[in-house]
Amino acid sequence: DEQLVNDQLSQWDRDHFMHPSTHLAQHARGEAQGRVIRTGKGAHIEDRDGQRWLDGFAGLYCVNVGYGRTEIADAIAKQAHELAYYHAYVGHGTEASITLAQMVMQRAPDHMSKVYFGLSGSDANETNLKLIWYYNNIRGLPQKKKIISRWRGYHGSGLMTGSLTGLPLFHNKFDLPLDPILHTTAPYYFRRDDLGQSEAQFVAQCAADLEEMIAREGADTIAAFWAEPLLGTGGIVPPPKGYWEAIQPILQKHDILLVADEVVTGFGRLGTMFGSAHYALKPDFITIAKGLTSAYAPLSGSIVSDKVWKVLEQGTDENGPIGHGWTYSAHPIGAAAGVANLKLIDDLTLVENAGTIGAYLNAQMTDALGDHPNVGEVRGEGMLCAIEFVEDKDSRTFFDPARKMGAQVVAELATSHVIGRAMPGGDILGFAPPLSLTKDEADQIVAATVKAVKATF
Ligand code: PLP
Repeated sequence: DEQLVNDQLSQWDRDHFMHPSTHLAQHARGEAQGRVIRTGKGAHIEDRDGQRWLDGFAGLYCVNVGYGRTEIADAIAKQAHELAYYHAYVGHGTEASITLAQMVMQRAPDHMSKVYFGLSGSDANETNLKLIWYYNNIRGLPQKKKIISRWRGYHGSGLMTGSLTGLPLFHNKFDLPLDPILHTTAPYYFRRDDLGQSEAQFVAQCAADLEEMIAREGADTIAAFWAEPLLGTGGIVPPPKGYWEAIQPILQKHDILLVADEVVTGFGRLGTMFGSAHYALKPDFITIAKGLTSAYAPLSGSIVSDKVWKVLEQGTDENGPIGHGWTYSAHPIGAAAGVANLKLIDDLTLVENAGTIGAYLNAQMTDALGDHPNVGEVRGEGMLCAIEFVEDKDSRTFFDPARKMGAQVVAELATSHVIGRAMPGGDILGFAPPLSLTKDEADQIVAATVKAVKATF
């Protein structure tokens, strides 16, 4: 019976379901089917065949409190029973959405003012972009509209957010409106062009590249600099030492806003509530999503600073209400999930756990694999860890991408029932487990990775 149901599901999946970020043709031919997941508890998920997996990527680095939290499930059920929906337009709200706004702002850096709720990281970034253009229109600077983001940044898959993203895979064949977006150097020391450069020299080059771009375009045409505190999807790359100290003064000097895209780093992943605090950033916008609800329900947010808020107030006093909203902005069920989730993060001290167990995971991984001839670098921060593979360590020669060595390691890892992610843009194995990971589970991830690396190279 079970087998019949599985066969039926897999037929329906191939015939009817067009998946995101998937090789569509292979999937439809049945060559690349994914897992069909049925349940989850803690850091583990179980598929329809009864196989249990240690999810070393917390879904898509989002199930931060782990799977199967009854506190959140109960809060969602209660909200659905009492009030599944009411909109947030023209000043309406629900107990859950108002409470969540207060909880988010209590945790956000002091100079931030308000939060606008959306559904996904992508739409929150679209909101930020529209508000930035609005902000400069209200300030009488209609020509100050270009955005600088970074190669290897990931900011979403929408029209503008796909353009902000600096990974060619997400631009490929889509004719995105790239014009208002400029991509500057990725702060990715391991992949520097000049291997002779010290970290400090490389940081100086990143800063000089940015200065040059601003000078070339004209500072009066550039509205904002868009960045994750730490490159996530682009390879899990902590910034080189001194990077943010070099970049922020340049932005301030040229009246360029800073958007900290904290979709991955927000709510504890780096061992601090926000990545902005971790790297001493003073952003004008913070994008939040994933960790806001631990993905128990879709919800995102755009947090604006006092400085931006004042101009938005002025703008609506002069022009009337902003014409920007989604039906599901501040959806009560997402908000109820968010309230329960943030409470759980505090009650279980998961931010601290992300710091200590994350440091342990990174240290163990470095000990176990740092000297392997095909491991170019083990790197990470908080509950994020990446291993970048190379064909030759001394000359830092990369494998031919067609060999998909990163994906091969991930496939080997699966034989130990551990899930890692082959990051796009290189042979990079990424881990971003739930913040609730235990020491024992960290050991399992390291042991499985060592085994997978041995089997692959
Ligand atoms: N920004 C960052 C830094 C992300 O990592 C992601 C998703 O991974 C997004 C934005 C887009 O979020 P979503 O997939 O919810 O649209």
